[in-house]
Amino acid sequence: MKVKEAIFQWYQENGRHDLPWRQTSDAYKIYLSEIMLQQTQVKTVLERFYFPFLERFPTLQSVAEAPLDDVLKMWEGLGYYTRAKNLHHTAMTCKGILPSSSEELGGLKGIGKSTAHAICAFAYHEPLPILDANVKRVLCRYFAISVKNEKVLWEKAWKLLHVSHPYEHNQAMMDIGARVCTPKNPQCDACPLSLTCKGKSAPQHYPKPLQKVKVPTKKRFALVCEREGKLGLIQRKEKLLHGLWGFVQSDEMTEGVMLGQVCHTYSHFKLVLDVIQTPLHVSVDGWFNSEEIAHLALSTVDKKIKECIEKATIRSTPIKEAIEEG
Ligand code: SF4
Repeated sequence: MKVKEAIFQWYQENGRHDLPWRQTSDAYKIYLSEIMLQQTQVKTVLERFYFPFLERFPTLQSVAEAPLDDVLKMWEGLGYYTRAKNLHHTAMTCKGILPSSSEELGGLKGIGKSTAHAICAFAYHEPLPILDANVKRVLCRYFAISVKNEKVLWEKAWKLLHVSHPYEHNQAMMDIGARVCTPKNPQCDACPLSLTCKGKSAPQHYPKPLQKVKVPTKKRFALVCEREGKLGLIQRKEKLLHGLWGFVQSDEMTEGVMLGQVCHTYSHFKLVLDVIQTPLHVSVDGWFNSEEIAHLALSTVDKKIKECIEKATIRSTPIKEAIEEG
């Protein structure tokens, strides 16, 4: 059996047909799943984010009509918030109706070539290959490619594509990457590409592992200021976490009481924050009580800071008293 047929057959028998974004031809729902899955595992998206988001925003039109803050609120905890901002931007740009050509889709903010192909292949069964991280690994191993090169990988993706069954082919390639040709423990015996796979004698060599770069640690201070029972927050303007609400951060040690420490690892650095309740004036964008904060979109690190404050409050009677005494 030819490899393309073997992949198709494998999908019929082993594919994850029950995933909700595989049971719809609604381009918006497929697009949403693709964006959510870019940096997040299927399990997390499925259990915590996909359905609540669709309940709040059942159509792209509803995303276009909502303020960005509402979209960020529904994205809260999923991380990589640029995805949510791009989704909102795209919804407004195309006035709630996604174009149906991969070229036009690829021109929208946050939709790369692979995502555009995925939307067209899954919603309209267009014969286009996809190239996400899992598929890249499978292709590197199948064709014994040591160094990842986008142009070469696209050529290989086109070469392997089953043009009569682009939907099943692409879904299969993603499933094989996620469940069979896994990074650490490829199951070549169970793989439909096994018969002609050039890299199966040494899968770990394809692609050649990159040298691990140790992520640097940044030490900073989160400043907690309180006024009449409300906490002062800012709406972030820097690229990372732009648009989300959170506590003021500073590189400088500030006068106050240490409430605890919070750590958070981003993709390119680790952040260690001393959480300081300060009596000094700190410039903020607004003052909020707990109930009001619950309605704001906070990043994971700011949620950790909030938890740290709550724990300190429970531990030690009012924080204010601690400051006064300190
Ligand atoms: S045969 Fe092995 S190395 Fe080749 S694609 Fe399948 S799981 Fe990966």
